[in-house]
Amino acid sequence: MRMSKTFGKTLREVPAEADTINHQLLLRAGMIHQVAAGVYSYLPLAWRVLKKIENIIRDEMNKAGGQELMMPVLQPLELWQETGRDLAFGKGLFTLSDRRDRKLALGPTHEEVITEMVSHNVQSYRDLPLLLYQIQTKFRDEPRPRAGLMRVREFTMKDLYSFDTDEEGLNQSYNQMLQAYQNIYSRCGLPALLVEADSGAIGGKDSHEFMVIAESGEDEVIYCPGCQYTANTDKAQSIKNKIEDGEPLPLEEVPTPGAATIEQLSDFLKVSQNRTLKAVFYIADEELIFVVIRGDLEVNEVKLKNILHCFELRLATETEVIGAGIVAGAASPVGISGIKVIADDSITSGANFVAGANKPDTHFRNANYPRDFRADLVVDIARARAGEGCPKCSSKLSSTHGIEVGHVFKLGTFISEKLGASFTDANGVSHPIVMGSYGIGLGRLLAAAIEQSHDDKGIIWPMPIAPYHIYLCPLYQESSRVSEVAESLYVELEAEGLEVLFDDRKESPGVKFNDADLLGIPIRVTVSPRTLKKDSVEIKRRSEKEPELVPLEGITERLKELVRQGLSRLPNSV
Ligand code: ATP
Ligand code: MG
Repeated sequence: MRMSKTFGKTLREVPAEADTINHQLLLRAGMIHQVAAGVYSYLPLAWRVLKKIENIIRDEMNKAGGQELMMPVLQPLELWQETGRDLAFGKGLFTLSDRRDRKLALGPTHEEVITEMVSHNVQSYRDLPLLLYQIQTKFRDEPRPRAGLMRVREFTMKDLYSFDTDEEGLNQSYNQMLQAYQNIYSRCGLPALLVEADSGAIGGKDSHEFMVIAESGEDEVIYCPGCQYTANTDKAQSIKNKIEDGEPLPLEEVPTPGAATIEQLSDFLKVSQNRTLKAVFYIADEELIFVVIRGDLEVNEVKLKNILHCFELRLATETEVIGAGIVAGAASPVGISGIKVIADDSITSGANFVAGANKPDTHFRNANYPRDFRADLVVDIARARAGEGCPKCSSKLSSTHGIEVGHVFKLGTFISEKLGASFTDANGVSHPIVMGSYGIGLGRLLAAAIEQSHDDKGIIWPMPIAPYHIYLCPLYQESSRVSEVAESLYVELEAEGLEVLFDDRKESPGVKFNDADLLGIPIRVTVSPRTLKKDSVEIKRRSEKEPELVPLEGITERLKELVRQGLSRLPNSV
């Protein structure tokens, strides 16, 4: 492709609206254009990358035994109501009405549509197992679209669904997909980590995410350097730092003027934060919930939501808390009644905590569970943190940030039961089909590749997903020899199947080199009067600092070899 004809302009300045690397570089490289919040057009360079990612994914899905099909974006809302997942998705589900006032949804995922279809096509155990997938546009009304292509409202996803007769079959399908996913990331040149993930409040058993480690990642990953335990913080467990037990002392009311937060309280009473009890209030599907947790810990809302089996969970407002007769800033589990109390299991070790007294500017010393207060449930609802003990081997946990680039999920029979997707076994007995679901977002994978591989000048594409293999860069084209050599090299390289972006523009070397670096094409080939004096061209890999002078003779073979190496390179290898 000739650069002079390529649609999309590069920008020198960092656009003000872009706060993450992928967003900045995609805009500067002229690869995406924002149409609305979280809605983008892909220009030709980005589209080429997405197509390459798509081809790799399709190839691995087919190799794993997947059959490709295509389902509609437009789905009857009734199907979602049958599984109750319209409520689980809540406002994230885009809905609309047709001219006859029938309610429709724009598919954020396709478990319902595919299961309904499978229920009409599977009767017997002989029809199973099945691995069915599509690569298609999804819609999600994200509350906060952000970070370029990382979190958008319209995006392409590969979604595969597995249908098996039993758990064993599901485990097999699941493991096949885990392997296929590893192959995909590896072939895209992207090191991705397998982490344990939350499987949600509705149905679902095991679940794993693939994470690309990056500073800008929204997810926190907890991992153990000792035993490889790795989990998303939504799911991560830990051995909480223990605090010493002591003889329970009598409950004692103390004035605490102006001390409303745990920090103020701990300063005022000279007790460490882990000797206090924190009260946090939530509204779970309209019900006020009182959460008690040790003062030094934070509530993990995903764990809490799963325990409450609720659709919507949010922090209660001060008005809602006061309205329930609670004194904000001195809320206490001691003496509370008529409100569901969920306590983190951290309150069961240690003794003599400071807790609210439910009176303005007053707290208790020496609150002890269960002597002084009750809880409806005592479970782990804390966020695991670096420094705490690994739940598997007790070593100290560490944490890092990651971008979720894939999610696999053992669904079980929740959806098939609701939608009547069943099969009969060899004895003629009917059972619900056991399902799994497996998704990768293509645009997010592209964004993660940029976050993972760039420098201050621009993108550094891994060869397998680079928009082009070679950036052919003639300098001072007024020299007719430069122009001649570059033109014929362009024709020859393309004829050999190499993908070449030919910078045929009459621009200065500075402009061309800057654009070459910004666009991140893996190999830059420079032809100039200086290189031609030595019957050579200059080759520079985007990932390396120094160029290399290479004789013109045999150049095509040399470049083919370099591209071949790049295409077969595994992530992290140099
Ligand atoms: P997240 O937790 O990031 O919101 P999710 O868990 O809701 O994602 P899944 O339903 O597991 O997402 O979707 C499968 C894959 O689709 C994700 O791993 C991700 O690669 C991609 N994806 C999901 N939501 C978005 C989005 N809003 N923008 C871009 N890609 C997305
Ligand atoms: Mg997910």
